[in-house]
Amino acid sequence: MRKLNSIAIVGASLAGFRAFQALRREGYDGTITLVGAEKHLPYNRPPLSKSMLRGDDEVTLPGAEELGNRWLKGRHAVRLDPAQRRLILDDASEVCYDGLVIATGARPRRLPDSPAGVYTLRTVEDSLALRAELAAGPGNVVVIGGGFIGGEVASTARALGLGVALVDTAPYPMQNVVGTETARWLADHHRDNGVELVTGTRVTGFDQNGRVTGVRLSDGRTLPADLVIAGMGVVPNTDWLEGSGLTVSDGVVCDERLFASGAEDVVAAGDVARWPHSLYGGALVRVEHWSNANDQGTAAALNLLAGPENAKPFADLPSFATHMHGARIQTAGLPHLADETRVVTGDPREGRFAVAFAKDGALVGAVAVNAPKDLIRVKRAIVAGDRLASLA
Ligand SMILES: Cc1cc2nc3c(=O)[nH]c(=O)nc-3n(C[C@H](O)[C@H](O)[C@H](O)COP(=O)(O)OP(=O)(O)OC[C@H]3O[C@@H](n4cnc5c(N)ncnc54)[C@H](O)[C@@H]3O)c2cc1C
Repeated sequence: MRKLNSIAIVGASLAGFRAFQALRREGYDGTITLVGAEKHLPYNRPPLSKSMLRGDDEVTLPGAEELGNRWLKGRHAVRLDPAQRRLILDDASEVCYDGLVIATGARPRRLPDSPAGVYTLRTVEDSLALRAELAAGPGNVVVIGGGFIGGEVASTARALGLGVALVDTAPYPMQNVVGTETARWLADHHRDNGVELVTGTRVTGFDQNGRVTGVRLSDGRTLPADLVIAGMGVVPNTDWLEGSGLTVSDGVVCDERLFASGAEDVVAAGDVARWPHSLYGGALVRVEHWSNANDQGTAAALNLLAGPENAKPFADLPSFATHMHGARIQTAGLPHLADETRVVTGDPREGRFAVAFAKDGALVGAVAVNAPKDLIRVKRAIVAGDRLASLA
């Protein structure tokens, strides 16, 4: 372990808090300054589009209570001066460090000129506001974007008995994430559960009377809307790093050990980090999944303590799980890299199946619907470097 007298962590959510916990667990006894823009103790985001919308407020990460007031909450880092090893915060105060963990995550893409009644979902405040809107029983809910957040909100709104239309630019929602077989199944699954799917079209604007009344589409139609939820992906929170000299390109670009490119005292983790993944020939990846932020926060902090020579490459397999209208959908690896797919278990028509994804014959990803054991089987094969042909 190298000697670092003080470590700053920017971003007090999953990756940042895991970095904090790892440092303490490792016996690090220097100063840790945790800076977080939100006022809440570090919390889990997955429940925000699931149980919290149904009334369960418990989201705080286990162990976070121990932080008490010993962290800088509601404080933004606005600038980084790596030469002086200095952070500048929004109240003009400064934090000096010997080592820095960047864990500032991502924020939702927004449509310009969105009127009242149009929501995105990233924070506790977003979820509570949306919950109140859903409870008021809007007649027409429109979800923009059929990714996991859009799909989950559509599923929750249907469970509450609300009328839901889901708009997506692709012919089938999540096609680029889960492949065509699963995306076709998912489209049918949404329809079977009463969602009106409006695909292959783009939102161009809103009708409003002080509050949204309609969603205008590129095909000329307008969908009636009393409530709109936009789930159109996220952008990494890197604005504060402008002018720092760190390489920023769709996230903080890191080496395989999560050190920011060219820096020996700065690591990044979670949704904001982009690093070369050895399982994918060193391709730069940025992963927006809970398990990645969870594991990478720990790994980045340990690498920072170890120093570049003794640090370990981070090559965990990305994995993700969600529930929509009662079905369990899981992914592993990076299916979007594939040039070949095969259903290896079950049948989409039966609502239970697993698909393996390969590039040049080598396994790169897996998707399973209501088939968790099959997902594990393909996951192991990916990690072992197996080929698609070797799967039974
Ligand atoms: C509604 C929702 C549902 C989800 N469901 C799932 C799921 O089912 N499964 C799954 O695998 N993943 C899911 N995810 C994704 C998962 O929650 C994220 O991958 C994870 O939260 C990433 O953690 P992070 O710590 O990297 O970033 P974040 O959680 O984005 O946290 C970053 C923190 O940094 C703070 N910050 C930003 N800029 C600054 C600054 N300049 N100074 C100080 N602080 C700053 C932010 O306010 C934030 O608190 C979901 C996400 C959302 C929003």
